[in-house]
Amino acid sequence: MSTVQNITVLGSTGSIGVSTLDVLRQHRGRYRAFALTAHTNVDDLFRQVLEFMPRYAVLLEDSRAEELRNRLRQAGSDTEVLAGMDGLVAVAEHADVDQVMAAIVGAAGLLPTLAAVRSGKRVLLANKEALVMSGQLFMSAVKRSGAELLPIDSEHNAIFQCMPVDFADGLGRKGVSRILLTGSGGPFRQLPLAQFAEVTPEQACAHPNWSMGRKISVDSATMMNKGLEFIEACWLFSASVDQVQVVVHPQSVIHSMVQYVDGSVLAQMGNPDMRTPIAFGLGWPERIASGVAPLDLVDVARLDFQQPDEGRFPCLRLAREAMMAGKTASVVLNAANEVAVDAFLAGRVRFTAIPAVIESVLGRMTLVEAVDIDTILRADQAAREMAHGLLTQQAK
Ligand code: NAD
Ligand code: MG
Repeated sequence: MSTVQNITVLGSTGSIGVSTLDVLRQHRGRYRAFALTAHTNVDDLFRQVLEFMPRYAVLLEDSRAEELRNRLRQAGSDTEVLAGMDGLVAVAEHADVDQVMAAIVGAAGLLPTLAAVRSGKRVLLANKEALVMSGQLFMSAVKRSGAELLPIDSEHNAIFQCMPVDFADGLGRKGVSRILLTGSGGPFRQLPLAQFAEVTPEQACAHPNWSMGRKISVDSATMMNKGLEFIEACWLFSASVDQVQVVVHPQSVIHSMVQYVDGSVLAQMGNPDMRTPIAFGLGWPERIASGVAPLDLVDVARLDFQQPDEGRFPCLRLAREAMMAGKTASVVLNAANEVAVDAFLAGRVRFTAIPAVIESVLGRMTLVEAVDIDTILRADQAAREMAHGLLTQQAK
């Protein structure tokens, strides 16, 4: 790697993207933003480009890319603006890039994230949906290319920090007995079940501990986020479904734990701020400052733990069942969830329609082996169409 490392931030205008840029800002001599990308937000990307002066900026639509190009030209910037999925893939696999922060939300991040993996980059993985969709394919590509995969999802980052160095040899052989995946339980942990049907997108997005994008906030409220993270943990650490246990921990101070055969349990703690895992990923194996306030345990005072309630949060069960079913089940789960969450956020369906629709789609789709990316994308598309159809019937 060169002395100053080139970083591509996929999804730089999102919650993780902005936190990533904040860490980069604190280490200007060490990292340079090579490419910044966004979906549609020209204003934010324009401001980021003027500050970080990357070589490339990418927007999904041609017309928006053209608008950004004109504005940047007028402002005297020489950043080159690319468009579309081709542009995203190009800045993910560019020969001059050292690290790629995969922080696009949802299935849209799959192709650029895989491109970064296949070209052997250090990949900082926030975009859990990409791994959930393509598990086996993704992990095989990591092995083949020699990419360095560093989990940014706070739980998986915590697990990574608590794992023995060579955990890839097999958890059992390294004395690991279980992964304890913690979750806050979201904003509705104590809400009476009878009120679930009436919750609004604003209530669902008001997470008690974390400030995040809207999609993952709803996932936290249904606990599908923990379900996706359960699948993510199985793939990242080659763990069986029996080796991952979800534990509700409302304070979000312990970010997850690893239990060993000798009775030891290692936990990683910190304030709930994504700049910690981001700085860990960027700097690894060195530690670099993140700007996160030091944890004050006296202020925290107590840590609580509970069993998750799958009666209230069926998404957790659906995700575990999808992981056990294998084939394209996790692709279907993820696609149906994305469509249902979109519909909920747009005010078209109730909160309780989300798990109901996912379960219906999973029950109706024929699963096939996820042999290649085209098969995965076809299953994703088919599940989306079915979810749309079912949601139209459930519209408020
Ligand atoms: P966000 O909605 O705040 O940001 C998403 C980013 O992706 C934006 O820059 C947006 O422009 C871009 N994007 C969205 N749709 C796109 C598309 N179709 N094509 C190209 N770009 C697109 O989301 P976030 O909260 O930052 O989450 C990003 C990812 O990180 C998600 O997969 C989420 O699960 C994961 N994650 C987030 C957090 C968190 O604290 N926010 C924590 C752990 C994991
Ligand atoms: Mg997480």
